[in-house]
Amino acid sequence: MNCYLIMGAPGAGKGTQASLIKNNYKIAHISTGDMFREAISSRTPVGLEAKKYIDKGNLAPDEITVYLVKERIQNDDCKNGFILDGFPRNLNQAKALDKLLKEEKIELKSVINIETDDKILIDRIVGRRTCPNCNEAYHIETKKPLKDGICDKCGSRLIQRADDNEEVVKSRLDVYHEQTAPLLKYYSKKGLVVNVDGMQDIDDVFNDIKKTWRK
Ligand code: ADP
Ligand code: AMP
Repeated sequence: MNCYLIMGAPGAGKGTQASLIKNNYKIAHISTGDMFREAISSRTPVGLEAKKYIDKGNLAPDEITVYLVKERIQNDDCKNGFILDGFPRNLNQAKALDKLLKEEKIELKSVINIETDDKILIDRIVGRRTCPNCNEAYHIETKKPLKDGICDKCGSRLIQRADDNEEVVKSRLDVYHEQTAPLLKYYSKKGLVVNVDGMQDIDDVFNDIKKTWRK
């Protein structure tokens, strides 16, 4: 079984590309951010605990996050492989993932790194609209839904994420640069990083991902 990682700053386009990858390569898309938001809206103990961190733009505790991923990859939809979006986010999580993949005999094929300029990220995040049902991301300028405020895929009403505001974005970006970006070095040493220019249009980014896809 194969595992892929998609990395990049908040707003770089990880979820957007992972959704295209899921449809094209028929692998599961696992977003820890989506899992936390679902837990929050269902008011589970995990959701209530994680909310304290997410609201401030900090990382949720590693133990909870690793546990969620460990359980999630046991699902049947992961049998054909899966792409992790938003995980790992620090070195401790990366090491936990190595252990997990080894135990389950899963091969890490590549780490797709979407490169962006910090300058554009605030606009991408503040303009993002999200489907609370199927998690598809839209943008008020760059990816409008066919019908205003309605998800093209499932017809649900789009929302703006609570943490998609300028204040919280700044801490999310700081956390990314301090804790997550250093992982690129960790995976580069293993020859796993594939860089993709995330400043292009959505379709062009996806074309580059397809060109460098490792089977
Ligand atoms: P991430 O999962 O990395 O936080 P998303 O995939 O949710 O990012 O994208 C953030 C926002 O930017 C969304 O509103 C999305 O529609 C938009 N977006 C994603 N990729 C691009 C792109 N290449 N060009 C312009 N807008 C994009
Ligand atoms: P995302 O949807 O990836 O932008 O994540 C939204 C928020 O969920 C982050 O700002 C974190 O608070 C939390 N989160 C998502 N993934 C992780 C993770 N791997 N580790 C810790 N916190 C996470």
